[in-house]
Amino acid sequence: MNLFETVSRLGHEQVVFFQHRESGLRCVIAIHSTLLGPALGGLRMWPYANEADAVRDVLRHSTDMTYKAAIAGLDVGGAKAVLIGNPESGKSEAMFRALGRFIESLGGRYIASEDVGTTSEDMELIRLETRHVVGVPESNGGSGDPSRATALGTLHGIRACLEHKYGHSDLRRVSFAVQGAGQVGYHLVKLLRAAGAKVFITDIAEDRIEHVVDEFGAEAVPMSQIYDVDAMVFSPCALGAVINEDTLPRLRCEVVAGGANNQLESEELGTQLERRGILYAPDYAINAGGLMNSVLELQGYSEARADRHVARIHQIITRILKRAAEEKIPTWQAARQLAEQRLTAISQTKLPYISPARS
Ligand code: NAD
Repeated sequence: MNLFETVSRLGHEQVVFFQHRESGLRCVIAIHSTLLGPALGGLRMWPYANEADAVRDVLRHSTDMTYKAAIAGLDVGGAKAVLIGNPESGKSEAMFRALGRFIESLGGRYIASEDVGTTSEDMELIRLETRHVVGVPESNGGSGDPSRATALGTLHGIRACLEHKYGHSDLRRVSFAVQGAGQVGYHLVKLLRAAGAKVFITDIAEDRIEHVVDEFGAEAVPMSQIYDVDAMVFSPCALGAVINEDTLPRLRCEVVAGGANNQLESEELGTQLERRGILYAPDYAINAGGLMNSVLELQGYSEARADRHVARIHQIITRILKRAAEEKIPTWQAARQLAEQRLTAISQTKLPYISPARS
């Protein structure tokens, strides 16, 4: 990979490599944009096969975070960090505290949060060394696990899709195929079932399926058959790239709306969904509830306040769908346009004077 050519194409401001030999820390932090504010993004820990994979991952996901924050109307920029290592065996207090000190050295340009392979307890260790971290446990004054807020936001987005497609959002008249009964999937099924929806659920992990079947009365489906289920809404809540050339012809749903990141294998798949008459809720917009929840921690967290913010996802998705219909463009493109429009507008804002304390 030609690193400078890639970051110049993607538009990154800064990519930082940190290592601490004594604790085994090897971390890459990619700050894509601080145009809207300090760049906030998850810290992922993963046993990458090689360093190039880690860099590719951090560059791609940090770019997505800029769009997510922009479309969500948040005053934060986009970033991501990856820790190269095994989250099961490679963690230590020293590693997270060393990382905390490195994050502190960035002076607030990067704010860390929990992601795949890291936990709110890891964030608590980072917090010992720097204020620039969110997602510490609620018992310690933080916002804790964001997945409940992600699922709640996804539900608001689903309602907006249903209103657009069917003219109502009465979940008792709607069926769902939910892929993934992990943190987001669990909370989403809970909300859907409480509102009276019919829910089919699948997961790799049998115990997770059993849990939501027993607790909420969802119907289990084998993993390989989730795309073929005759449900009105397909809700990806597990992996990325689940909408691809193989799965597209199998889909029987009329709406794709779920909490997973990077659902489309490519943007072209979003266009193909549209051609088949399937409404797609852009993933980074509908799943922004977790980010909204985490950002509130910077200002003083309360769950009630977070839920009010997350409810805005209904308006955000409605705006995207409206723009797509008016401009006759796919929803992924409408979301991109709206996010870019906000980024451009803010970049052109030149105030006459900002006191040093605020700059
Ligand atoms: P998780 O690891 O708790 O849950 C993922 C679930 O998917 C697991 O139960 C896993 O067994 C299952 N799974 C894996 N492969 C599968 C497959 N092929 N078929 C069916 N199930 C499979 O993760 P999570 O936090 O619930 O996140 C789920 C998705 O939502 C991810 O794409 C994540 O990036 C995205 N997301 C999460 C949040 C959040 O707040 N947690 C916020 C935004 C986006």
